[in-house]
Amino acid sequence: MSKSHNTSRRDFLRQSAVLGAGAALGVSGSVLAQQSSGSHKGPYPAEGMAAYSETGPLRLMQFERRALGPKDVAIKIHYCGVCHSDIHTVRGDWGKIQFPQIVGHELAGEVVAVGSSVNNFTIGNRVGVGTMVNSCRICPECHAGHENYCLNGNTQTYGSKDRDGTITQGGYSTFVVVDEDFVIKIPDAIDLADAGPLLCAGITVYSPLRRWAVTPGKKVAIVGMGGLGHLGVKLATALGADVTVFTTSPDKTNDAKRFGAKQVVLNRDGADFSKLRHAFDFALDTVPYKHDLNRFIPLLKRDATYCRVGVGKLADSNEIGQMNLVLYRNALAGSNTGGIQETQDMIEFCARNKIRPEITKIRMQGTDDAWRRVVAKQAPYRFVIDMTSG
Ligand SMILES: [Zn+2]
Ligand SMILES: [Zn+2]
Repeated sequence: MSKSHNTSRRDFLRQSAVLGAGAALGVSGSVLAQQSSGSHKGPYPAEGMAAYSETGPLRLMQFERRALGPKDVAIKIHYCGVCHSDIHTVRGDWGKIQFPQIVGHELAGEVVAVGSSVNNFTIGNRVGVGTMVNSCRICPECHAGHENYCLNGNTQTYGSKDRDGTITQGGYSTFVVVDEDFVIKIPDAIDLADAGPLLCAGITVYSPLRRWAVTPGKKVAIVGMGGLGHLGVKLATALGADVTVFTTSPDKTNDAKRFGAKQVVLNRDGADFSKLRHAFDFALDTVPYKHDLNRFIPLLKRDATYCRVGVGKLADSNEIGQMNLVLYRNALAGSNTGGIQETQDMIEFCARNKIRPEITKIRMQGTDDAWRRVVAKQAPYRFVIDMTSG
């Protein structure tokens, strides 16, 4: 489809959305159309790639983002990363969801309007939004900056019940309105297209690397080198660790070394890891499938932790042998993204250390195909949807 054709189709859709919203609100389309330019306070017409069922293709949906509250920031989304969580959510791997649902929690774009009490953002700022758009703010975890572990349940960027009772719609869309406390500033050194994947995949690996004190000279195993794992290799290397990658894909060996790994081990069924027994101070497992952890636990030094961040189908539980953790006082842990301040710290760390995700840009209409490739483990690390592409 030519660019000009594409543009006119999108203009038509946008106009339709404005007229539709106008009818629903009892105001004329022309009033809303006029409001949709400049820094008006919304509500804002938006469109996005929505799932209408667990198995069907994504389809373009017109919808509306809420009018700006005093603390809200309106963001024109330029890019959104494709995370495996998006697929697990829609496919029902983590429970039933309500359709239609727009997923995506690796958003990057620019501020186009701010609410009356917004302190930290102005129009034109480059910003991003990760996996959360709100939390209770009063529980001990929120007070400690761990909004990701909010005891009252945080509001996820998609598929969560929002304060107004609606279900949150995610970043495979053109526009979003978010409370400023959950908006991340993107440093100038980071391209907007690269920013999104850092806000889920990046923080998901950064947080445990910091929590388990990965520092210069530590021997770290990164298990799986997809969207999460490849950033794990880059971040652990930047923290000074001596990184070994375990991958099922022989063709990723050169990439792993380019990302900083000292050693690459092919993780084939029955592969012999005995030379690496008790070699690691920490292991970060990014594989979003059930797999045999018994092969990896003995590779830890005494007292070392094996941390999982990839989550597959909840119906498939992992089991580990009863003796494995006991023998060398090892710990099996999990970690879930990171807090807002920690996410800001992570992206500034990436800017200082020139860390960027390996991305392949796709058009909105190419998202289904990208999902197929992610599931088939053929994704080139991270797909990023260009929201201005149609
Ligand atoms: Zn994610
Ligand atoms: Zn809380």
